[in-house]
Amino acid sequence: MKDLKLAGLKGEHSSIEVKGVTIGGKEIILMGGPCAVESSIQMKQSAETVKKAGGRILRGGVFKPRTSPYSFQGLGREGLNYLVQAAREQGLLCVTEVIDAQSLELVVDQIDIIQIGARNMQNFELLKMVGKINKPIILKRGLSATIEEWLLAAEYILSAGNPNVILCERGIRTYEPSTRNTLDLSAVGVAKELSHLPVIVDPSHAAGRRDLISSLSKAAIAAGADGLLIEMHPNPAEATSDGPQSLYPEQFVQLARELGIVAGSVSRVFASGGQGDDGETLESLRSQIDGIDQTIIERLAVRMQIVRKVGDQKRLDRVKDTSREKEIIQRLVNLGTELQLSPDLVKKIYALIFEFSVQSQIKSKLTKEKDLELSLYPVGSK
Ligand code: PEP
Ligand code: MN
Repeated sequence: MKDLKLAGLKGEHSSIEVKGVTIGGKEIILMGGPCAVESSIQMKQSAETVKKAGGRILRGGVFKPRTSPYSFQGLGREGLNYLVQAAREQGLLCVTEVIDAQSLELVVDQIDIIQIGARNMQNFELLKMVGKINKPIILKRGLSATIEEWLLAAEYILSAGNPNVILCERGIRTYEPSTRNTLDLSAVGVAKELSHLPVIVDPSHAAGRRDLISSLSKAAIAAGADGLLIEMHPNPAEATSDGPQSLYPEQFVQLARELGIVAGSVSRVFASGGQGDDGETLESLRSQIDGIDQTIIERLAVRMQIVRKVGDQKRLDRVKDTSREKEIIQRLVNLGTELQLSPDLVKKIYALIFEFSVQSQIKSKLTKEKDLELSLYPVGSK
């Protein structure tokens, strides 16, 4: 695409750093919060949940571009204070949408990331305005925009002087009525093939229903997304907008617990919780540990099965492969360090895992050879 002078991929993909949070790096960035800011308590509760889940960024709309002029239009300045205050108290960053010059001016000094909503993706004057500020911009894909139009919209921001654009796929309009929009996960791959910009996914506005958010979020990470923007509300039934697609706080935390394993499977990391544990009971912490222990043992069992298959393909005297062991340990120590795990712990655990793996390979091979011998020379046949 010849006009992607600045957005086009030339070499490496780029990442964007905001106050210690890197979007487009190894870590999957979770952003969550209600569709619209409604009250101080709502934002406090939302921020606590985002923090507890391991999220980094609190969302909340204070200027709502609604389909109907009679729907709730947002709290404006008052809502901005609730959002900023709640995020600050939990050490989170915050993102909110702007819709015109006035709203941009009002939020720009207080908000860490500015969102351009789907309905404004081709509001070129607004794009040029946010191109002149020095905060990162989340650019949502338009309701019926092609990927090319979306990337050219990003080009408007970049060419006006702001290099920090994060693309956000949030579902496009199709003929399918069972979901609000259709989440276009191929757009993540295509955008990353054509552009160096980070890409995040908003499954909430795509699905329009909370029962699909968990699976779509995992699919988005598997598809290569750098982060997720998810609507969550302390009391979705009372939400002024988008209640049916908003997760309950417990669902948000549960989803976050499940994301790490998906992230790991595509060489990314996501660490849920570990922060903001206030209010958690001993019981709930123990039940988290029980869940994690179960996962560890289940995955270890699968690892052993695969190890035996590998062993069956090797000669008995070549079962131990020290250089591969070293490579694995190095990779895992690096990963552990990123996640604040002691290198010693990783090394000790893996020394044991390797020892048992080799024993199990040898045992499996000997059993197989014995079986073969028995089938060739059944007992009593010699
Ligand atoms: C939102 O994030 O609340 C929003 C209005 O999203 P979109 O612009 O994608 O519809
Ligand atoms: Mn919404």
